[in-house]
Amino acid sequence: MTLPVVVAVDDLRRALAARRGSGRPVRFVPTMGALHDGHATLIRRARADGGVVLLSIFVNPTQFGPTEDLAKYPRTPEADLALAQKAGADLVWMPEVETLYPPGEQTRVQVGALADVLCGAVRPGHFTGVATVVAKLLIASGADVLYLGEKDFQQTAVLRRMVADLLIPSTIEVVPTVREADGLALSSRNRYLDAAGRAAAAAIPRALEAATRTARAGEPAPDILARARRVLDAEPGLRTQYLELRDARTLELSPSVDAHARLFIAGFVGSTRLIDNRALLP
Ligand code: AMP
Repeated sequence: MTLPVVVAVDDLRRALAARRGSGRPVRFVPTMGALHDGHATLIRRARADGGVVLLSIFVNPTQFGPTEDLAKYPRTPEADLALAQKAGADLVWMPEVETLYPPGEQTRVQVGALADVLCGAVRPGHFTGVATVVAKLLIASGADVLYLGEKDFQQTAVLRRMVADLLIPSTIEVVPTVREADGLALSSRNRYLDAAGRAAAAAIPRALEAATRTARAGEPAPDILARARRVLDAEPGLRTQYLELRDARTLELSPSVDAHARLFIAGFVGSTRLIDNRALLP
């Protein structure tokens, strides 16, 4: 059987109502497509948790800045549907831009301080786009559980806040980052990397690993950051955008290293922007 695909919100709601019957939960994995094994892991996890597994594929224009890669963001719908079916999705929602942003729309969801640091500082408006679209996706679907990847750690923090603040009755499950053998986090954008770029990108997980080892040896925060910085700077193919140690709960800068300390890295390999993060202590 082929995987059913819906576009309009009415069709989505009908399809979900038919599948949820008397109380099966809707487990929802929102994506921008160009699916890889990280996405498949979220779908498999939702499948294992039981209920109706909804996947959305939507490249959300409002979370891209004017100079960012919206137009050239990878789109691979056929491969996406095959992967989604294999991983265990029950239904795929592929809204049009006009489905989620109807003519005349003028509403945005803006989260506060959590959205202003890290990626929010270097991509102004990004998390307003993310919070707005995920609010729409949750309201339209009535999903019970939202599955998010830890690779986008700040996104999980912003969306937790958004869901709590807007009284949206969905819970959030965060799935650990799926990585290549050398530690590089899987990302739809990795497909832009040529062999040299791919090698340069591996400096990011190497820096996270070096920082973690330094932290576990009991070294102070400045030494941990310096150690990670050296690894990043040794890779000429990588331009670091930020390297910051922050408290995972508040995303405020961490002057010291405790169980909540998390290291966040963003960098460019050519024009491809990559991000990653890791807790420093177990
Ligand atoms: P995206 O399509 O990039 O917007 O990602 C959709 C969802 O998949 C988000 O919750 C991401 O955090 C998650 N995701 C992306 N890459 C990975 C990965 N390597 N491991 C786990 N989750 C991921």
